[in-house]
Amino acid sequence: MSTSTGVTTGVIPKYELRCRECGKSWGNQPRSICDDCFSPLEITYDYDAIRASFTRERIVQGPPSMWRYADLLPLPENFRPTVPAGFTPLLKAPRLAQRLGAKNLYIKNDAVCLPTLSFKDRVVAVALAQARNFGFDTVACSSTGNLANSVAAQAARNGFHAWIFIPADLEPAKIIGTQVFGAKLVRIAGSYDQVNRLCSQIADERHWGFVNVNLRPYYAEGSKTVGFEIAEQLGWRLPDNIVVPMAGGSLITKIKKAFDELIQLGLVEPKPVKFFGAQATGCSPISTAVKTGNAEIEPQKPATLARSLAIGNPADGHYAIKTITKTGGWAEDVSDPELVASIQLLAETEGIFTETAGGVTVGCARKLYRQDRIASDDTTVLCITGNGLKTTDALAGKYEMEAPIPPKIAEFDKYLDKALDVPQISVAETVEA
Ligand SMILES: *Cc1c(COP(=O)(O)O)cnc(C)c1O
Ligand SMILES: [Zn+2]
Repeated sequence: MSTSTGVTTGVIPKYELRCRECGKSWGNQPRSICDDCFSPLEITYDYDAIRASFTRERIVQGPPSMWRYADLLPLPENFRPTVPAGFTPLLKAPRLAQRLGAKNLYIKNDAVCLPTLSFKDRVVAVALAQARNFGFDTVACSSTGNLANSVAAQAARNGFHAWIFIPADLEPAKIIGTQVFGAKLVRIAGSYDQVNRLCSQIADERHWGFVNVNLRPYYAEGSKTVGFEIAEQLGWRLPDNIVVPMAGGSLITKIKKAFDELIQLGLVEPKPVKFFGAQATGCSPISTAVKTGNAEIEPQKPATLARSLAIGNPADGHYAIKTITKTGGWAEDVSDPELVASIQLLAETEGIFTETAGGVTVGCARKLYRQDRIASDDTTVLCITGNGLKTTDALAGKYEMEAPIPPKIAEFDKYLDKALDVPQISVAETVEA
């Protein structure tokens, strides 16, 4: 039973919105804030109703995508997936491990998430399912780049109009990678935080489904699938540590929620997992709070190459801090040169080309091993969340474009002699010293 405000009064639905602080139920509707106490809303589930169907046996028979975990996602009754998002590789990373002084290192590789090569495809897929359910014909978002790409692509595939709001200084590949899908792209002369504030105002005025504003609680649940997959791919086991890049701070809190749900439903043995957050020093409100022992965020003005993480006033910052400190983890941040060197290091050691956010994750992991905050023997997972082909400008000037040589074997022999004269040092190695 629902009242006109959408507040559930009778039968418990499979899932519904609840206030994270006062616990009030808000049913299911496009809303992200509790009107009573102004705290964020979150999806809660009737776990007893889910327990019977959410088993290892059922899951492994499901599709090779995030939809194998549909029982623990807030999806409408009649939902049919239209994109095979998620179920990305979890790779052992022995060569990177050696360079970091680690032994049991894994990469969760969302650089190859479908359809737009970042983990945002997971959150958008869930948000658009609810956008349809709530009767929106236009979807929208404020974005630091990857969300823009994913909303634009999935809106096209599902027949929504799309309005995308971005700070004007995003990488060219992320701009083209939005426009190509026919979305309306609105560049704002301002920071992401200003773009987001504007979007909250627009969402109040227009009947549009903003995936990370009025649909945010549904959107955020999509991130849990990263956690479900890691546990399944480790053989239904949780890692000791996980390193997660942070922008708004949602992903890290939702991976924690995923692990907790798997424990609660008996799919994995209970085990403490330490959560480590990674940011760029040029935009590090969450890592700064953790390092200074602050429970709240002090907003920053972003100045970093890692644009996908450049949120100065993170919506879930408070909860990200809690996730990190309560699990015994830590947060770190790296400079722009360090994140670029870390992109190169991951590429040279494991053959994975990540974007700036992935450089941040690898760079912070390196620091955390050095500080002995992560023990080398522990099973540790690094979350690589986006693809390097979208941020090639970060590597501008790193590789010389050599003059071409004539197509003659003698010319190549000459070239080789010269090339072998030059000592071969990996670029990433030079920054490590
Ligand atoms: C958005 C994004 C993140 C961070 O996500 P939050 O949930 O906002 O913390 C990390 N990596 C990439 C590549 C992203 O696009
Ligand atoms: Zn409340």
